[in-house]
Order: sequence, then C-alpha cells, then structure tokens
Amino acid sequence: MNPSKTIIAGPCSAETERQVMNTARSLATAGISIFRAGIWKPRTKPGQFEGIGTPGLEWLRDVREETGMRVTTEVANSRHVEAALKAEIDILWIGARTTANPFAVQEIADSLRGCGIPVMVKNPINPDIELWTGAIERLQNAGIRIFAAIHRGFSTYGEQTYRYAPQWQIPIELRRRMPSLPILCDPSHMGGKREHVLPLAQASYQMNADGLFVEVHCNPDEALSDSRQQLTPDMFIQLLEQLRQHKVPDSAETGNLAGFRNRIDGCDRQIVEILAKRMDIVKEISAYKNEHDLTVLQSERYNDIINNLIQEGRKFGLSENFVKNLFGMIHTESVNLQLSAIQNHKL
Ligand code: PEP
Ligand code: MN
Repeated sequence: MNPSKTIIAGPCSAETERQVMNTARSLATAGISIFRAGIWKPRTKPGQFEGIGTPGLEWLRDVREETGMRVTTEVANSRHVEAALKAEIDILWIGARTTANPFAVQEIADSLRGCGIPVMVKNPINPDIELWTGAIERLQNAGIRIFAAIHRGFSTYGEQTYRYAPQWQIPIELRRRMPSLPILCDPSHMGGKREHVLPLAQASYQMNADGLFVEVHCNPDEALSDSRQQLTPDMFIQLLEQLRQHKVPDSAETGNLAGFRNRIDGCDRQIVEILAKRMDIVKEISAYKNEHDLTVLQSERYNDIINNLIQEGRKFGLSENFVKNLFGMIHTESVNLQLSAIQNHKL
C-alpha cells in the first residue's frame, strides 16, 4: 500500500454490531487505519433504512478500542454533531446533500466551533465548485480543520454509466484554488456498481488524488444501503494491490514530455483558430437569417449535424458522448451569438 495515500474504508451504514466489527477486523488486518460507517443515512426516498442512529456510535468506539483504527461518520445537523462529539468520534464528514445546503453547513460549523475535531467535506451533489468551496470556507471561518475534501462524483439526469459522474475538472479546480487541501476520491458512490470501483480508483490515482474513501462491507449482498457498490474486504485488498501508482513527472521526465506537450499545444492552437473561423461564418449566417426573417434555431438541422458528427467521430475513435458534449457547447455558442446579433440589430 502506498504510504503517501490516505485510505479510508468501511460500510456505507453501520447495521449491526457484528457487521461493523467483522468488517473492521478484516480492514485492520489489511493495514487500513481509518474506518468509515454511516450512522445517520440520507436516503433519497422515504421508507428505506435511514441508519441505526446513536446506538451505532458505541460500535465505532469499540472498533477504535479493539483495532486502533480511527473512526469517522457523517453528520448533517447539530444533533448529529453533539452525539458524535460525545462518542469521541475521531473525524467527521459532511455528505454531498448537506454540502449543497449552506444553512445546514453553517449550523454544523457553529456547533463544531472550538472543538478541534477534523472534518471532511464531500462535494455537493450538483456540479458547483462554489458550493463546495463555500462549505469548506464556512467551516474554516469557524476555526475547523479540514482533514480532506472528498470527490464523490456529481448527479446527472437520466440513465448513465456511472451513478454519479466524476467530472474531474471540478476537483482540478478545487486543487487550483486550495492547493494544500488533500482531495480523496470516493469511487464507490461515483460508480454505483462494484465493477466500476477499481477503474475509477485507478483514474483518481492518475489524477493525483491523495487517497481513497471506499465502501467495504463483510457481506455486501445483504447490505441495507448501497449494496451494489460495496466491496468485500477481500475485493478491497485486491483492489489496493492492483492499483498502479502514478508519480508526478520530475524534471528529467518533464524534458521527455516536452515533445508531446508541444504537439498537443499546437493542436489546441489550431482548434482555437478553427473555432474562431466557424464563429465568423455564424455571424455571416446570422445577418442572412435576420435579413430574410428566418428563425435562428432549426431543430432538424441541429439533430442532423450532431448525428453526422457522431458517425464521423466514430470513424476516428471519438466517443459519442464526447462529440455530443463538445458540439452541444459549440452549437450553444453559435445560437447565443446569433441571438445577440439580432438583439443588437433591433436596438
Ligand atoms: C456515504 O458516504 O455514505 C454517503 C452518504 O455519501 P454521499 O454523501 O457522497 O452520497
Ligand atoms: Mn453509501
């Protein structure tokens, strides 16, 4: 195991004393030093298991006592904070739904003021960097130490490969804004399925994540929450062995990379020039449409463009999603340019 990475593992929810202790013992034997378990569970729909509540805090204390691991759980309001502090939990985390709610974050910050307990902050469920950094700042303003941020992926509408898509540009931006803050990756909630956990964890290492936050359950098929994404302790140990470690290139390697980087920079410059050329034509077509009282948007034309480009992209090995997203943005910019040209013309 790479000693420079922080590895946190444990069940989605603490369910029974036996389940908590069995899972914790296997993880401790494997050398894991921080154990996670949800005591209060935020469920999307009512009528599901909403966590064992305060009695589970005792089990976490037992885990610490017996295995020496530090223990962490989620808090979403001041009652949770009070109970967790009373049980002497080592580290707290703020869940994705709570990070999205400034009232709740402020309530937690106020009740933690002066306590000295470190806190982890998951990204908000929606892809909003300001909400994420805002929550971190609220806690920091109350003098709370942020142990790490956790990137757990973001909500998207409709059926997707991943339960919560990673959107790596957002943790990259967090890193740019808060360079000294460790960022852990939670590939369990990102993937939503067991088979996605390893590739996502691997991707996060390639993106230079500082560690992992993974759901591990002694009997995942029987888990009362997130059963499809939890790994057995054995699967998790295997995952850690399979992860390839990636290092940030040193200066010698940077020299070898220069050639590749020059070629990439050259392509990027050409892309910008071509985009500018395309937008010039858009301005011309916009004047023409305006003169002839034609609508800016013709849906069939847009659908034809995208479908043709998807076919074209496929020939060159570009994924359908990439082509759709890229040309979606280009098309939106074209439409906006045409609309503002019309508005200027009318003024
Ligand atoms: C969790 O880690 O158990 C959890 C509820 O995560 P999230 O807030 O990311 O959904
Ligand atoms: Mn979970």
